[in-house]
Amino acid sequence: MIRAKPCRGLPVLVLVVALMLAGCGRRPPGETETLTEGGQASEQQLPQRTVPVFCYHKMSANPTGFYEVSTEDFKEQLQLLHDEGYESVTASQIADYLEGKADLPEKAVALTFDDGLKSVLTESKPLMDKHGFVGTAFLISESVGGKGHLTWEDVAELEKAGWEIGSHTVSHINPTKVSAEKLAEELAGSKATLEEHTASKVISLAYPYGNYDNDVMREVREAGYRIAFSIDRGPADQTDDPMRVPRQMVVKGNSMKTFTRWAHQEKLHFADLAPPIGTHVDTTGPTFTARLADEQVPVLEVELVAGDKAVKYQVGDDGRTITFTPDLAKGANIIRANYRGSPQREVSWIVICDAE
Ligand SMILES: [Zn+2]
Repeated sequence: MIRAKPCRGLPVLVLVVALMLAGCGRRPPGETETLTEGGQASEQQLPQRTVPVFCYHKMSANPTGFYEVSTEDFKEQLQLLHDEGYESVTASQIADYLEGKADLPEKAVALTFDDGLKSVLTESKPLMDKHGFVGTAFLISESVGGKGHLTWEDVAELEKAGWEIGSHTVSHINPTKVSAEKLAEELAGSKATLEEHTASKVISLAYPYGNYDNDVMREVREAGYRIAFSIDRGPADQTDDPMRVPRQMVVKGNSMKTFTRWAHQEKLHFADLAPPIGTHVDTTGPTFTARLADEQVPVLEVELVAGDKAVKYQVGDDGRTITFTPDLAKGANIIRANYRGSPQREVSWIVICDAE
C-alpha cells in the first residue's frame, strides 16, 4: 500500500489530469516564454538557468575523514570554475530566481558549507577570495563558538566579505525523525539566534542529513525560510521546489573528472511522479510511475538506482512513462536516475519508508 497524503485515489488522478491540462505553472525545459499582445511577459519569465550547487564540510591540507576535502583538490575545483567563467551566487540569489524575482548569471555556481566549521574561514574562504567567489555557510546555531567551529566574530567576517549565513538547525537534528514540535523549535530557534548575531535576515536552510518530507517542507516554509537545500543529486534549475533544492556533496578524494561532470551536467526531469516527492510509503516495495520529460533522452538509456541497487523499469504505451518497484529499506531511501549521454543528466530524491 502506498500512503499518498494528502491526496489519495481519485484526487491524485484528478490532480494529474489537471496538471496535464494546465501545465504545472512552470515551463517544461525547452519551452520559450509566452508574451501577451502588448509584448509584455504575462508574468516575469526568467531565462532557464542550470546551477550546480556544491556542498562542502571541513577542509584541510591533509584530510582524514570522509567529509573532509583537501585544500589542494578545492584549489583545482575553484580553478576549473574560474577558467570556465562561473560566477558564484548565494542562497538568496537562488531563492530570488526560483521566485521569479531576479535572474542569475548565465554561468552561476553556488558553494555552500555545512556545520559551521572553522576551516570555512581559515581554509576555504582564502582560496575562494582569489577568484572573487563568495559562499553560503549553514550554521548549527548551538555550535557557534564551540571547538572547531566558527565564532560570532568569524561569522561577522564572512558576512563582511559578502558571504551569506543560513541555518542548519539548532542542534543538527534529523528533520524527518523528530516530532513536529521539536522541528518547529529547531527551525525557529536557529533562525532567531542567527539573526541576533548577523546583519541580514536568515532565509535559507540546509537539511541535516539531507532529509525532508512533506511535513518538514511545510514547517520550513511556515518558519519563514524561503529556500531549503537537500543533498539530492543533479543541479538546481527553474523546475525546483524552493523547499528542496539539490546540492552535490563533495567529499574526500572526488576526482577532477567527477567534479567536472557535476559542474557540467543538467537535471533529469520526471513529470507526474507518483507517489510524489515528499510522500511517505508504508511498504518496502512501493510501485512508482513517472514520465520522462526530457524529450532528447531515450527512455531506455535512463539508469535507475535505489540505495546502491539497480532498479528495473517497464515503459508504458506512451513510450515515456516508466513504472518501477524498488526495494526500499525502512527510513530514508535515495532513488537516483542517471542519463549518461550528452549532456549528462541526473536527479535523485528521498523516499521515507514507514514499513513495520
Ligand atoms: Zn550537517
